[in-house]
Amino acid sequence: MQIAVLGAGVVGVTTAYYLAEAGHDVTIVDRETEIARSCSLGNGAQLSYSYVDAMASPAFLAKMPGLLAGIDRAIRVRPPVNMDLVRWGLSFLWQCSSDKATRNTIANLALAQRSKQLLDELRPKLNGDFGFKAAGKLVLLRSEREMAHARETCKLKAEYGNRVDVVSMEEAISIEPGLAHMPGPYAGAVSSPGDDVGDSRAFAEILAQHLQDTTTCKIFLNTEIDKLLVEKDKLKAVSTDQGILDADAVVVCLGTWSPALLKPLGINTSIYPARGYSVTLPPGPHVPSASITDLGCRFVMSRIGEKVRVAGFADFVGSDISRDAGRIQELLEIAKAKAPGAADFAATPNHSWAGSRPLTPNGQPIIGPTSVRGLFLNTGHGSFGWTLACASGEKVSSLIAEQFVATEPQHHRKQYPSASPSLT
Ligand SMILES: Cc1cc2nc3c(=O)[nH]c(=O)nc-3n(C[C@H](O)[C@H](O)[C@H](O)COP(=O)(O)OP(=O)(O)OC[C@H]3O[C@@H](n4cnc5c(N)ncnc54)[C@H](O)[C@@H]3O)c2cc1C
Repeated sequence: MQIAVLGAGVVGVTTAYYLAEAGHDVTIVDRETEIARSCSLGNGAQLSYSYVDAMASPAFLAKMPGLLAGIDRAIRVRPPVNMDLVRWGLSFLWQCSSDKATRNTIANLALAQRSKQLLDELRPKLNGDFGFKAAGKLVLLRSEREMAHARETCKLKAEYGNRVDVVSMEEAISIEPGLAHMPGPYAGAVSSPGDDVGDSRAFAEILAQHLQDTTTCKIFLNTEIDKLLVEKDKLKAVSTDQGILDADAVVVCLGTWSPALLKPLGINTSIYPARGYSVTLPPGPHVPSASITDLGCRFVMSRIGEKVRVAGFADFVGSDISRDAGRIQELLEIAKAKAPGAADFAATPNHSWAGSRPLTPNGQPIIGPTSVRGLFLNTGHGSFGWTLACASGEKVSSLIAEQFVATEPQHHRKQYPSASPSLT
């Protein structure tokens, strides 16, 4: 089959890989001039397999008054609030019950565990360094209350096969000596030794090259996707500013831009952009080897080779993805106060970045078929797109196989044209 993958972020490229592995002729389309230049470019680099918790939860609900009062510096909502955000916010609140939070987290954990397995299988096949390290992770907690909550969620995670422990600060420092130079104050941490680190942009570039070297995969960059062409509820082609791309199936991996392409077809995806920021710096004298998450201040820190990436914040400012210099400075100040020896904060120029997480209300990505035959989604990965990319790609690939094998007459199976796709 000829399959078009729309979007060359980490989710799109990984999707293309699993489709090509399944024997399809794949074309990736993106408007950027290079691979992974949007949300997959400067993220926190955490392969956070044991921490993919849904943001919508009773704990988050309890913090809402402080958020709305602007006390939490890490989350901002810029007025005027639009109807899309109101609708998204109501769906988010609906997901904040304990039962739903647990269900959503368990679903993500299953996808995360499968992703870890798949990336471990894929890594030896790739030529190139994407800063992968089995670094482990420590999530820093500030109070006994947070520790008690963490013990509950760790119990649940352990039941689902995750290696996670709530540890005292002394134990955390013995795992990661760099923490002795982080003043806190912290009450303890969640340690997850099975979590990893890697640069998702470098990974996507290396994987895209691997696809071009070893499969029939074509990549059309610098190509704006205008609309999807559908006839009698069946997908026909993709219209772009470079021409029409015929396809037997299409997978939408456009991150925060997915709803705009799907809306004209009456397909409503509840995805809202949450803008975050990062700075990449030279390491300091006490740089942690493990990846660190400070839950209270909402920033993460990962060592990628000879660099340290500090990322965080969530601003609900619509589709604006501009680099807000003030917010980047704020992120730097918080990270410097909390981890002064981790990075060379005085280094110039800092590589700074802003990107928008495609957030769904329940925190789960949207993976699967739509009401249009041949049109599939793999989008809405929120804060965990890099972590969940491999299993999401594998899953959508198997769902495509299911739809086509289930509905094609027996004698038509495996007789799809294999000519290379082109823009006409
Ligand atoms: C501050 C921050 C920190 C994060 N940290 C982590 C982390 O540590 N671990 C983790 O797992 N995740 C993290 N994330 C989340 C992760 O970065 C995202 O979930 C992931 O990058 C989403 O990938 P994607 O491929 O779906 O989207 P994108 O990377 O945004 O790709 C979408 C692509 O679609 C293209 N596109 C859109 N519209 C069109 C169009 N009309 N025509 C052509 N092309 C189009 C864009 O150019 C883009 O390349 C973080 C996010 C942020 C903001």
